[in-house]
Amino acid sequence: MHSITLDEQDTFVVADTVFEKVQKLLIQHRICRVCEKSYTEESPMIAANLCLECFLRENSSVHLTVVPTVPDENGVTVYRFLDPEGYIYTCSPASESSEAYESISLTLAYWGFPDVASVELEGKPVELDPTDATIYGDLKTNSVVVVSKRKKAGRLEVSFLSYKNGPCVYLDKAKGYTRKVWREAESQYLATKDARGRYHYKERVSRQPFQSDIYCLLSDNESAKYDQKT
Ligand SMILES: [Zn+2]
Repeated sequence: MHSITLDEQDTFVVADTVFEKVQKLLIQHRICRVCEKSYTEESPMIAANLCLECFLRENSSVHLTVVPTVPDENGVTVYRFLDPEGYIYTCSPASESSEAYESISLTLAYWGFPDVASVELEGKPVELDPTDATIYGDLKTNSVVVVSKRKKAGRLEVSFLSYKNGPCVYLDKAKGYTRKVWREAESQYLATKDARGRYHYKERVSRQPFQSDIYCLLSDNESAKYDQKT
């Protein structure tokens, strides 16, 4: 037996066979909660009781375009949308929210950049928070980006050089190749200081040096080298 509640008021207890019939009927006649239209192939239901058209309209300020769907690890269809800067947004299919949210892991996967879930620091594995990540570098033109993540349950930030369709390397600022390229990008950025004491990265001008701009510069430098190799 099952119970069915209508309009959050009356609850009916019915036999399994009746429940199945009602469920089938509801799925067949389901409509979008915003436009009240039936779902179509062009405008399927992408979040709980919300059609694709309404989702795009409600998120029109982000200027999203649709990219082909992919199945997640459980085989559930993931709807993906691209913003003008190359970030992937998605919606949560089970949620009542119609807001699109940015996904760093889907963004990296879309552009072929490897992602990491953990890093070894001083010989110990450190798990990283998959929800707290930032990408530095132009996703649409660069072949190497810097990805910064935070340690799970901690504020420690660790960064990586993510090579398109290649490795993801821990950006160790204290030793090795990564130290060398980090220091190069840093000096290059500090040398942009003008007579008024301002630093420049492309059209960005700032009164104090920003690590984020050095990461972007490092992404540009490494991309130029990586493009020559591949
Ligand atoms: Zn709709």
